[in-house]
Amino acid sequence: MSHVSELFGCMVFNDRVMRERLPKDTHKALMRTITHGLALDSSVAHIVANAMKDWAIERGATHYCHWFHPLSNVTAEKHDSFIAPTEDGEVIMEFSGKELIQGESDASAFPSGGLRATFEARGYTAWDPTSYAFVKDGTLVIPTAFCSHGGEALDKKTPLLRSMEAINRQALRITKLFGHGDDTRILSTSGLEQEYFLVDESQFRKRRDLCFCGRTLFGAPPPKGQGDHYAGSIKPRVLQFMRDVDEELWKLGVSAKTRHNEAAPSQHELAPVFTTTNIATDHNLLTMSVMRDVARRHGLVCLFHEKPFDGVNGSGKHNNWSLITNTGVNLFDPGATPQTNAQFLLFLCAVLKAVDLHQDLIRLSASSAGNDCRLGGHEAPPGIISVFLGDELTTILESIENETAYVAHDTLRLEMGLDILPNFPREITDRNRTSPMAFTGNKFELRLLGASFSGSESSMVMNTIVADVLSDFANILEGDKQLLTPLLRDTIKAHKRIIFNGNNYADEWVTEAAARGLLNIQSTVDAIPYYCDPKNLALFLRQSVFRPHEVTARSEIITTNYSATVHIEALTMLDMALQEIIPSVVRYSTELAQSVQVKTQVSITAQTERELLERIDTELTGLYETTKTLEQALHEAQALSNQYHQARHYRATVLPIMVRLRAHADVLEGIIARDAWSMPTYGDLLFSV
Ligand code: ADP
Ligand code: MG
Repeated sequence: MSHVSELFGCMVFNDRVMRERLPKDTHKALMRTITHGLALDSSVAHIVANAMKDWAIERGATHYCHWFHPLSNVTAEKHDSFIAPTEDGEVIMEFSGKELIQGESDASAFPSGGLRATFEARGYTAWDPTSYAFVKDGTLVIPTAFCSHGGEALDKKTPLLRSMEAINRQALRITKLFGHGDDTRILSTSGLEQEYFLVDESQFRKRRDLCFCGRTLFGAPPPKGQGDHYAGSIKPRVLQFMRDVDEELWKLGVSAKTRHNEAAPSQHELAPVFTTTNIATDHNLLTMSVMRDVARRHGLVCLFHEKPFDGVNGSGKHNNWSLITNTGVNLFDPGATPQTNAQFLLFLCAVLKAVDLHQDLIRLSASSAGNDCRLGGHEAPPGIISVFLGDELTTILESIENETAYVAHDTLRLEMGLDILPNFPREITDRNRTSPMAFTGNKFELRLLGASFSGSESSMVMNTIVADVLSDFANILEGDKQLLTPLLRDTIKAHKRIIFNGNNYADEWVTEAAARGLLNIQSTVDAIPYYCDPKNLALFLRQSVFRPHEVTARSEIITTNYSATVHIEALTMLDMALQEIIPSVVRYSTELAQSVQVKTQVSITAQTERELLERIDTELTGLYETTKTLEQALHEAQALSNQYHQARHYRATVLPIMVRLRAHADVLEGIIARDAWSMPTYGDLLFSV
């Protein structure tokens, strides 16, 4: 590997390249667009496009594409080459400002939740100049937003950008009140930690459930489960994969920073250095795509499903969210004396209030059929939203609420008890791994997200709900700054129920949360109706993030995605049960029966074979009967015309039958001969890399 600092960003059309390659005026105009969100002049776009094309061609690009994130879990791209035929039969390489700024894509191929029917089939992609273009695999990739003719968001980027504007508008009003009039822009930041599994590609191909659904639907637990894997030494094959991923990401300007083994066997994590929520989201999508590609080159498959294997931890994505000013000040930095840092306390209280008021939206931003398998399973936070603040900040808030003096904790240094080790200043917050949303020093770590999610929804929700509260705060304080103390006190009083520093996995928390009146939304299907709650429609409209019909569309898409996911899983189970498991079991039973016959002829009772045959037959009958019940339940689901009723049916009826079907198969796997079982087992999948 060549020098990392030379490698870093070498495939990115970043600010340094722009400064080198664009006329001064053009660069200035573009920077104004990037840093202040202003519209870009078409003549400027033309110059940028030309420079971009020349730069990309030098890096081997022949094509360009508008890269966007429709309302599904994959990114979309359509490639066009730069070539333009000339009259003399040759070609020249061309790329216009218009081609850079706007593209057209057939929106009918992507989920639109009814928006398409109301408007027209065409969708437009629009260049997002705040996220740098890059060259990947011979293509100049241009990050874009995707919307309908009428400007309705058909993607995950548009609402995120709108929410960044909202938080910028409202947070600036607050910092101004504290005398920071020189702040010109406030950005939300995000550090997205990505968990994933690696499995051997040849084993993967033999599992239809992994191929079709990304998770196993059958599988008896292996003798060895989750143990000493977390942050253990990384196996050479995995390390080689991680090295290649890092190198590729660095070239693309993604600051991949941390890599380690996670809790489950074959599970790992990658974390980048944080950046603005928009870029962090794009970089995370890029990271997932690079990981998938690099894994294949290593004969591996990278799994991003939230729960690929039962019985071991699933994979999440942690969204570390914060706010930063254009001068680099983190608005959630408590400083040395948080108790007197009024601006910090105000922002902190804004988050507490926002989260308390909009628990439903945070829960929704982490809802999918896949994540339902993971949340609340004593490995990930439950569906109850709360905020971990740690003792020190909680005590400070209590002293404000009760108007009592705050006595600072005196053990601010962490004593390691060994002279040769340095004493670290103790962080103001400890870690609480069970909290869905932990304040970790100067940012909030949202731990609910599933590994396959885009970070956009969660950041969009945080930006929007906090912007809305800040707007209320600004309305009050712009009238009279003296109202700050009572405002803090009232906010703490009204919303302190959202603070929880204890164990979120404990059963007592469920009871306690109910007593506090907190929501406990168990599943995606239970969460969906909250989306179009009038409170939420009004909030999104107030903050100019969504118009009501855009929210309705999204709620429809989550609903249909949910049903489609469970439907495919159920069909895959039927397919595996009928075409693989039952034939394997029948073949093995025949062997046993033959043994009984042969032994009986020589007057041996063959007791073991007889007993095994009995047990196998009972399970086999159970399995087969359950396939019939499952088929019936799928027919019933398909007959339902109301999308939401259909999703409910999948959750309430189909999923429990799938669990029963699996139970029979897993028992059978445990008693029939290993070589009679046609698919790789959990042991093979989890311990072979
Ligand atoms: P963990 O202890 O949760 O494993 P990591 O160190 O792996 O923590 O990840 C923490 C993430 O938080 C990193 O991506 C880091 O860049 C990010 N982060 C740090 N400061 C901020 C901030 N101000 N805003 C957003 N993200 C941040
Ligand atoms: Mg984390």
